[in-house]
Amino acid sequence: MGDFDDLLAANEEFAADFDLGGFDGIARAGVALVTCMDSRIEPLGMIGLTPGDAKIFRNPGGRVTPQALEALVLGVHLLNVDRVLVVPHTRCAVASSSEDELRRRVGESAGQDASWQSFGVVEDQEATLRADVAAVRSHPLVPDSVKVGGFLYDVDSGRLRQVV
Ligand SMILES: [Zn+2]
Repeated sequence: MGDFDDLLAANEEFAADFDLGGFDGIARAGVALVTCMDSRIEPLGMIGLTPGDAKIFRNPGGRVTPQALEALVLGVHLLNVDRVLVVPHTRCAVASSSEDELRRRVGESAGQDASWQSFGVVEDQEATLRADVAAVRSHPLVPDSVKVGGFLYDVDSGRLRQVV
């Protein structure tokens, strides 16, 4: 019995009626989304898209990190992206905890010191979102023709609210 047998069995069923083969991997709807790893977020469904429509980059907090910018530059220049949504969300762990609190909780779980681990805690979610959107807009390889918006996703209502 392998550790992933249940998931591989599910994949067999998934692949049995797979119909996304042969697609070239561009963002068909021209959309790129940066959002949180949170399991309450369904990034395609929440904006009416389906597989193949969008480039999605996820990390804790939905932050515009250097790696997110790499993804967005590739998306804009090579993968048909002309609209970028940056989407943090309500009740996000990295926006509602302190760095010390996360280090303490992880340290307790790990049974060892976690004080050296960074978690990229966000103190002011909307201010951070504005700064993250500005980082995309001002990137030298993101042309002004690309529309960039910052939104807050409400994990309890499913609604997006545009902040910037
Ligand atoms: Zn989150």
